[in-house]
Amino acid sequence: MDTLLLLTHAEADGAVPKAALEALSAAKALGAPITAGVFGGSVEKAAASLAGTGVAKLLTASGAAFAEPRYATDAAAATALAKASGATVVVCPATSRMVRVMAGVAQRLGGRIDTHVTQLVNEGGPAAVRWYYRQRIEAKLKRKERPWVLLVDPGAYPAPKPEGGAAPAVEAVAVTAPAARTTVSGFRAPSSGEQTIRPEAKLLLVAGAGWTKKQPDGKANPEKAEQLILGFLRASGASLGSSKSLVDQAGEGQKVFEFMSHLNQVGQTGATPRHPKGLATCCHGEEPHVVGWRFIRERRAVNLDPNCGWARGKADVLYVADAFAVMEKVNALLGAK
Ligand SMILES: Cc1cc2nc3c(=O)[nH]c(=O)nc-3n(C[C@H](O)[C@H](O)[C@H](O)COP(=O)(O)OP(=O)(O)OC[C@H]3O[C@@H](n4cnc5c(N)ncnc54)[C@H](O)[C@@H]3O)c2cc1C
Repeated sequence: MDTLLLLTHAEADGAVPKAALEALSAAKALGAPITAGVFGGSVEKAAASLAGTGVAKLLTASGAAFAEPRYATDAAAATALAKASGATVVVCPATSRMVRVMAGVAQRLGGRIDTHVTQLVNEGGPAAVRWYYRQRIEAKLKRKERPWVLLVDPGAYPAPKPEGGAAPAVEAVAVTAPAARTTVSGFRAPSSGEQTIRPEAKLLLVAGAGWTKKQPDGKANPEKAEQLILGFLRASGASLGSSKSLVDQAGEGQKVFEFMSHLNQVGQTGATPRHPKGLATCCHGEEPHVVGWRFIRERRAVNLDPNCGWARGKADVLYVADAFAVMEKVNALLGAK
């Protein structure tokens, strides 16, 4: 029988990240007892964040050397915790910090790694489910090699509801931090404008290139489009996605929205967000875009063209209407609320 480790970094406040709790839900499906391993500057709140979740034991590696995300120190801490646990299956949240080091950690452990896991299944042994070719093909994998490291994508599972019960027993693991050449001098955010990517939002509003195109009156009105999109985002708290055509316009010297960058792009060459609902506006619904909607559970679109891609089974509801008029009305209703 496999032994399980939930391995994660801590947040700055010493708690376990939400994505790690989601990965814990995935690991619980395997039906084996779970030990947790947490590293970071402080791991003070880690035990409390795992209370009542069924984790019996918590291994920790903490200290100033492990506070900042840095390959050498993170890899050393993660490897030491995995070795101390003796686990044969290591489940991690796919946060950028874990994604960066876990392939190297798997190598140091003499194991194997699989990424972008969306589900773990107990089939008399662990099996991992993930999507290939940009969410077009779903596959189930098993491996003989151990330890098997699995990075679970955030948003694939809800965090477990604490069921009551004690916090796990904590055992500190002594890790000697390796010499580090990298020092962290600060953070620089890629988007200088308004923060429009909100992974926790219930709704994803997608803007397509139609917002900047000539309208039936013969004129383009990107300023009005900007005002309507931002007005909706501010009033609703929705996250903003984009089609590739709209974000690519920057390179073509056309009007672009300052609050939008390639990070907003949804699709084959963009992101695959996991909001419960999505509303596409002025976007055609082409396959390379819609494939990024794989995990959006309820899809609606507003398009002037009754024959657009959304109409061909890609949206649950298509409003054949002018998005300028629709969003103006929606914003007025939100404003009145
Ligand atoms: C290899 C490859 C990878 C790609 N990857 C991606 C990807 O990751 N993501 C992606 O998005 N695309 C991707 N594409 C591009 C994709 O095929 C489409 O070209 C793109 O998604 C089109 O963007 P759009 O719908 O915004 O623009 P358009 O095709 O120009 O559509 C604009 C739409 O707006 C509608 N419209 C105009 N005015 C209004 C109005 N007032 N009210 C309502 N509707 C209106 C029009 O009817 C039209 O349907 C990829 C293409 C290739 C070849």
